[in-house]
Amino acid sequence: MTGAAVEKRRHRVVVIGSGFGGLFACKHLKNADVDVVLISKTSTHLFQPLLYQVATGILSTGEIAPATRIVLRKHHNTQVILGEVTHIDLAAKTVTSRLLNEDTVTEFDSIILATGAQQSYFGNDRFATYAPGMKTIDDALELRARILGSFEEAEVAKTQEERDRFMTFVVVGAGPTGVELAGQIAELADRTLVGCFRNIDPRDARVILLEGAGAVLAPMGPKLGSIAQRRLEKMGVEIQLNAMVTDVDARGVVVKDKDGSQRRIEAACKVWSAGVQASSLGKLVAQQSDGTEVDRAGRVIVEPDLTIKGHPNVFVVGDLMSVPGVPGQAQGAIQGATYAAKQIKAEVAGKQTPEQRKPFHYFNKGSMATVSRFSAVCQIGKLEFGGFLAWLIWLVLHLYYLIGYRSRVVTVFQWFVAFLGRNRGQMAATEQWVFARLAMEAMNGNEEDRREVRGELGENAADAGKSGANQTPSPSAGRSAV
Ligand SMILES: Cc1cc2nc3c(=O)[nH]c(=O)nc-3n(C[C@H](O)[C@H](O)[C@H](O)COP(=O)(O)OP(=O)(O)OC[C@H]3O[C@@H](n4cnc5c(N)ncnc54)[C@H](O)[C@@H]3O)c2cc1C
Repeated sequence: MTGAAVEKRRHRVVVIGSGFGGLFACKHLKNADVDVVLISKTSTHLFQPLLYQVATGILSTGEIAPATRIVLRKHHNTQVILGEVTHIDLAAKTVTSRLLNEDTVTEFDSIILATGAQQSYFGNDRFATYAPGMKTIDDALELRARILGSFEEAEVAKTQEERDRFMTFVVVGAGPTGVELAGQIAELADRTLVGCFRNIDPRDARVILLEGAGAVLAPMGPKLGSIAQRRLEKMGVEIQLNAMVTDVDARGVVVKDKDGSQRRIEAACKVWSAGVQASSLGKLVAQQSDGTEVDRAGRVIVEPDLTIKGHPNVFVVGDLMSVPGVPGQAQGAIQGATYAAKQIKAEVAGKQTPEQRKPFHYFNKGSMATVSRFSAVCQIGKLEFGGFLAWLIWLVLHLYYLIGYRSRVVTVFQWFVAFLGRNRGQMAATEQWVFARLAMEAMNGNEEDRREVRGELGENAADAGKSGANQTPSPSAGRSAV
């Protein structure tokens, strides 16, 4: 600028992502002498550990996904921008985000990149059409509609073969998410839905948990894995280990066993919870660095201070960072984001330089997974145990980390209803929840797909609009979708 006085602006931190990493970065920068701009493609802070309870009708989305803008309302130094980050230019120090057709370019002095990871289908992305993952609110609502829709289809099925297919639920991957989901589908069938149908008995549902490796909850060790396995089997879940899924289609899955033989499982409802792929923004910044690389899952192999080579102002945290010994869990993201925020605060205050940073140190607080109501497995240091006590600890910790007083109160109430009684408070599902993702994907696909979908949606969208928001999916919804 010539002639005019240039107003000196404060140090600007651009935080990308509103998950655990993004939110905790903002919380720790609240009273710092910086301006914070949080950019995220979702308008909420999603508490992913309870997604499976949304998918199985225990909680509503409101309890686990408060609006980020409202959570950060009292952070007067923070602006929230909704948009998908499409480009980061480290040389120009700009971040470009897109909301619908509108691009926004934001300048930064420091970045905290916390865009997490997505479901990985190990190169078979077409599986996603029939076996959605569970990473987002949309995923959880789609799964709820698919699970409940399958029971609806079974009720009106014309043949036993069809009925069996609709009553078979396949969960791929026996990590914490797969274990929790399989347990909840079994409880839904054995408790909540009992007596609700006239042609089927929901207790006849088969819930099959497929795992390519040789153990359930492998990262948590053999003791906790076998506790979880025994509990699931007692609930009637069929666990098949060393079972690799090699194909997925509308009517079922193909499984390859350890001996190399292949077999089919006919199942209308499939869920994918096997593997993650980091956000592509990790690779984008690594490519602009002085030699930082990404690992096979696309996570950024960061420096000891969680930055990339040659850019001490670019922090990568959470599921997107690769640090030995740090698991892809909420604590990794929270601690990484807190560390990054502290470094920025200290340096803006002139208390240290990037060269004086102490390396990031992860404090392992343990890990846990629920198996069913009143049963979980828990690992704290060398202590490993399962059962009711583990479940109580799980309950208290999850309530503690839920954002907002209202969410906690409502969640406790919903848990009372679901765990002490038989009912679940969130059993609504609509046809749109099953179709919307596929329709949007087709809309973003080639012109031919778009034409086809526009034609299809002309009728279906109008029908869905008429059907309102609080209905179970019509039998036809599941049939063509699953
Ligand atoms: C089903 C499930 C259950 C889990 N259970 C547990 C558990 O019991 N305990 C535990 O400790 N951990 C659990 N985890 C893992 C935990 O949720 C993650 O480790 C944690 O969420 C990682 O935080 P993050 O901030 O790195 O990423 P995320 O929480 O995934 O947040 C990523 C954010 O980035 C945004 N984003 C992504 N791409 C872009 C883009 N291009 N532009 C703008 N914004 C973008 C997203 O919208 C999102 O807001 C679970 C995860 C899942 C999926």
